[in-house]
Amino acid sequence: MEDYEKLLDSALKDMPASSVNVTRTEIPKATGRVEGNKTIITNFNQLVKFFNRDPQHFLKFLLRELASPGKLEENRLIIGRKLNPNFINQKVAEYAEIYVLCPECKKPDTKLIEENGKLYLKCTACGARNIVKEKV
Ligand SMILES: [Zn+2]
Repeated sequence: MEDYEKLLDSALKDMPASSVNVTRTEIPKATGRVEGNKTIITNFNQLVKFFNRDPQHFLKFLLRELASPGKLEENRLIIGRKLNPNFINQKVAEYAEIYVLCPECKKPDTKLIEENGKLYLKCTACGARNIVKEKV
């Protein structure tokens, strides 16, 4: 373990300072399929787990943005409309941008905090605190 930490330490030192904080986090993609006139997202829980957010919060945002009815069935989100997967993933990425990724370091290690009626995104990785402009 100690050797690994040393290795990590020297790896970080070798990196040019400017590149350390700009690594972009890969947002997981929604996977699913169209069945009849429904769209089924099969990895809803995995997305929620990655975002580390309240499933209802994410659900509400997604359905509003997709302008579609929908409901959760275990790990699956059933959307009552045929949707283009690119459109869904665009909305998933938007949610991450607004409510999950730190605007400073782009890491998803963040928490939503409510203070004086305002919503903040607090980053546990770099300590940045930014106001969230949109609200579900
Ligand atoms: Zn940060």
